[in-house]
Amino acid sequence: MSQRLADALLKRISYLSAGAQSKIKSAIQFASNAHEGQIRLSGAPQLNHALEVGLYIAELRLDSDTVIASILHDTVEDTPATIKDIKSRFGATVAKLVDGVTKLDSIRISKTWLKPFSPQYKQVDRYENQAETLRKMFVAMSKDIRVVIIKLADRLCNLKTLSFLPEVKRLRIAQETMDIYAPIANRLGMGEFRCELEDLSFPHLMPKEYKWVKKLAIPAIEARRKYLARVSKKLKILIERQGVDAEITYRAKRWYSLYIKLLKHDRDISKIYDVVALRVIVPSVEDCYNVLGIIHSLWKPLPGRIKDYIALPKPNGYRSIHTTVFADNGVITEVQVRTPKMDRQAEFGIAAHWSYKEKGSMKKLRKTQLTWINELLRWQSKVQKSKDVKEALALDFFSDRIFVFTPQGDAVDLPVGATPIDFAYAVHTAVGNQCAGARVNDKMVSITSALKNGDIIEIIKNRKGKPKLDWLRFVKTEHAKESIRKAAPR
Ligand code: MN
Repeated sequence: MSQRLADALLKRISYLSAGAQSKIKSAIQFASNAHEGQIRLSGAPQLNHALEVGLYIAELRLDSDTVIASILHDTVEDTPATIKDIKSRFGATVAKLVDGVTKLDSIRISKTWLKPFSPQYKQVDRYENQAETLRKMFVAMSKDIRVVIIKLADRLCNLKTLSFLPEVKRLRIAQETMDIYAPIANRLGMGEFRCELEDLSFPHLMPKEYKWVKKLAIPAIEARRKYLARVSKKLKILIERQGVDAEITYRAKRWYSLYIKLLKHDRDISKIYDVVALRVIVPSVEDCYNVLGIIHSLWKPLPGRIKDYIALPKPNGYRSIHTTVFADNGVITEVQVRTPKMDRQAEFGIAAHWSYKEKGSMKKLRKTQLTWINELLRWQSKVQKSKDVKEALALDFFSDRIFVFTPQGDAVDLPVGATPIDFAYAVHTAVGNQCAGARVNDKMVSITSALKNGDIIEIIKNRKGKPKLDWLRFVKTEHAKESIRKAAPR
């Protein structure tokens, strides 16, 4: 089994130089030695998992350091291998990426969140604030966008064997995926990853609803497929008659995204026009607009349903033209028109730009398609415009924040240098005022010590305690300063 996966991986990295390929071979050997004898709960060797994650990264055509880091991503956590070993064998970049992936393991959703999942939770402010803090922390701790991508691929592979885990763990991982991983994939424009992450979590979180959607949609999808096979032939002939090469495909909407749409449309599948959408791929932007004209002369468009994401791309970089038409026999059908490049962007997002062959196009990327990074930048209260792409991709813009946890697992966002007192005030003013000491990661610490990313902090309270003016010398947050000035006896 492992050999078959290793062969598949070696085949898939043919886009890399011979030197890079041989480095990847030795990384596979390294992982194989490190994981020797380790078996996953599914019964498969641990090495398979490493190779599967590598396969995803190679499919995205990322650089060789990222492929190597993906193969080694669990070696530091689960085997005697150290970051130092990796650095001396594979270089500083690989070591940095593996270290980043290992550190992200500390990001967990709070146990108090674990209740029957529902998409409506997202409307609850406190819950959404927590989720957003975790997403920020995820990005901040990654330091490099490639760490995020490896982690997304890792999660995708883990979801496939989720059924082997005990229920509590299974639900936590599925919910974390829905609330943290899938939205991050979406913001990075990685549509394919996002949908896979959602569709693998959905049946665990809402088994009844999942079964309901499938039962409802499968006959509709089948009928649509047959119909679209006919009409797409007709459209293709018309387009090619104008001298434009067109590739026409049709793809069913993914389960979770269909479910969300059904909730918005009275659970009535006849109101959803893109259960299966027609996708027309043509060589140039000019061709896209020409094809739009051809479609509208063939079939009448539904008013108000033409969306030009080429002129106005989505914030995550998605580009395409969408129109909904009354196709043959009046069947309402959505058609998406795009170039091959836009198609790749829609599927792989940021990873499409990061890919090995397109390194030279980084400059162009910044001006036209980095709107998603502005979205990330908006996460930060003081937006500082990055000077160049490299800086932006390094995700340095969170370097002045740290993210820590309560013992219940709630995440708290603090400035660098924040102390247990700042943390106590961030949890609640009363907790700050009564703070008498703190345990960080189960060890007693001084209340003046600086907290680190991922710390778990327990505040020891003294009900009769009062803040001291002396604390003003070391606290970092305005909220703590103000509260101390108000409540400290002088
Ligand atoms: Mn893993």
